[in-house]
Amino acid sequence: MKQFVVIGCGRFGSSVAKTLYGLGFDVLAIDANEDVIQGIADSVTHAVQADATEEASIKSLGMSNFDVAVITIGSNIQASIMATLIVKELGVKHVVAKAQNEQHAKVLYKIGADRIVFPERDMGVRVAHNLVSSNFLDIIELAPDYSIVEISALKEWEGQNLRDLNMRAKYGINVMAIKHGVEINISPRATDIVKKDDVLVVIGHNDDLQKIEKKV
Ligand code: ADP
Repeated sequence: MKQFVVIGCGRFGSSVAKTLYGLGFDVLAIDANEDVIQGIADSVTHAVQADATEEASIKSLGMSNFDVAVITIGSNIQASIMATLIVKELGVKHVVAKAQNEQHAKVLYKIGADRIVFPERDMGVRVAHNLVSSNFLDIIELAPDYSIVEISALKEWEGQNLRDLNMRAKYGINVMAIKHGVEINISPRATDIVKKDDVLVVIGHNDDLQKIEKKV
């Protein structure tokens, strides 16, 4: 079972830590602020007050036992960089760090972060897409040009099966799953029919996805 350490438990970090703990994983939460630690103590395995830029205190918490470190120190870029460097040097296998901007991300990658997340930017993208088109429910960027999108079935699709809809040829997108209420069909067949209120999970090039976004 994977062991997680979350460093910097602000709004984003505490949400990551609590969710991992809720999923049944061991989570050590570290924050410099004692009040933050008291607030999160009941929602994680261990919560420790420590300054993540002080190597000796972080080392004493046994970093090499952790599979994943999530560095979610937000506004203090210098502290986020130091903390990332320290956990990487102390042997944590996989380090995920939250970045404020592209420059911050570049530095984090250079010092060995394995993955960078931009929660505010990504949520901004999602909200904007959803505002432009209420049928675009969610979007996950896979690569700069490709995304996975959850989209409410268009009226014109209702009652047709996937073969007749022929989305690959018409729009250049692939249907990965069809959600109907709480049910989800994760291997849709050509004969499966799209019903009213279905949600399609589709994958494609952003240009092709935008064509559908503008249609709805
Ligand atoms: P968010 O926007 O997700 O709320 P914040 O930047 O407000 O992010 O919160 C970051 C958290 O990181 C705060 O709880 C703060 O106490 C903590 N933090 C800041 N610097 C350090 C540090 N050097 N060591 C440990 N925790 C830190």
